[in-house]
Amino acid sequence: MKTKIGGKELIEEAAKLIKEGEVVAFPTETVYGLGADAFNKDAVEKIFKAKGRPADNPLIVHLSSKDQLNKVAIDIPKEAYILIDAFSPGPLTLILNRHPDIPNITTSGLNTVGIRFPNNKLAQMLISKSDTPIAAPSANISGRLSPTTGQAVYEDMNGKIPMILDDGKCQVGIESTVLDLTKKPYTILRPGAISAKMLAPYLSDVKNFEGEVKIVTAPGMKYKHYAPLCPCVGVKKAKNAINHYDKVLDTITDKVVIIGNDFFLNLIPDKYNKISIGKTPTECMALFFDTMREAEKKYKYIILQNFEDYPEFYSLNNRIEKSTAHIIV
Ligand code: AMP
Ligand code: MG
Repeated sequence: MKTKIGGKELIEEAAKLIKEGEVVAFPTETVYGLGADAFNKDAVEKIFKAKGRPADNPLIVHLSSKDQLNKVAIDIPKEAYILIDAFSPGPLTLILNRHPDIPNITTSGLNTVGIRFPNNKLAQMLISKSDTPIAAPSANISGRLSPTTGQAVYEDMNGKIPMILDDGKCQVGIESTVLDLTKKPYTILRPGAISAKMLAPYLSDVKNFEGEVKIVTAPGMKYKHYAPLCPCVGVKKAKNAINHYDKVLDTITDKVVIIGNDFFLNLIPDKYNKISIGKTPTECMALFFDTMREAEKKYKYIILQNFEDYPEFYSLNNRIEKSTAHIIV
């Protein structure tokens, strides 16, 4: 299959493809999504196939207007409307009770459904012109780094889907916060740019999910995610990064790189290969996946800063831990 890639000029054609039951990759403010008509089970099946995604990992249903809410969810609590007013469109996914019209495949058989209003004009146009909610996971091959540029989607999806809508770099850069509103205490199943602290003024009781996933509430949580193509280990301190770099350099001649934020990299001499992902949590989130995709092309070994000791980097560190498979040296 030939994969077309382009911008706004392709929007009518993209909407037509969605209506015909095809898969289209599209930009959002978080990461690029791989979309299909949420009500069409054959179309949604094509998403799972293109990504090689396990069938028990549910998709988020993307909406462009509040009118669509009652078509995808039932028994919607008042908290949902409050949060939608406060944070939508934006990087917040709400888990609600599923409408029976949503096919099993979209939610991996769960009685709940994740919904979100993306804050990207092309995404909003695609949903409204297709005249249906669009189910979409991130547009990467399952287990790989999430794509934050059209080019990154092309690397993973060329030949597998008919079209990629390209809108350059995603602003937020990590996936949405996933908040379960179906039971109390309300729980953040996946951290994102909207933190528990930001949600707290609107909810009486909200907490971050903690601990090991035993019973699968959010199936995506149990898979190893965000793996670069080369080995990747975590480090908490600059001196450990230097020691480890020197150690692996013998075997991996000059193809080692240290990735971290400005403060961390300032402690590392310039003779070491290093790439900054910025200064603040917002900057670092926006650059993380793109930097990792660039680094895996150029280097054979990545030493990645672990931010566990910095609570303001909590959401980004969740992705970093998964990229390093929880290994800290
Ligand atoms: P992705 O967009 O690739 O990050 O995948 C969507 C993620 O959203 C899944 O891996 C889950 O973590 C979460 N999600 C979607 N629907 C549900 C649901 N009904 N219940 C819990 N989590 C969900
Ligand atoms: Mg994903």
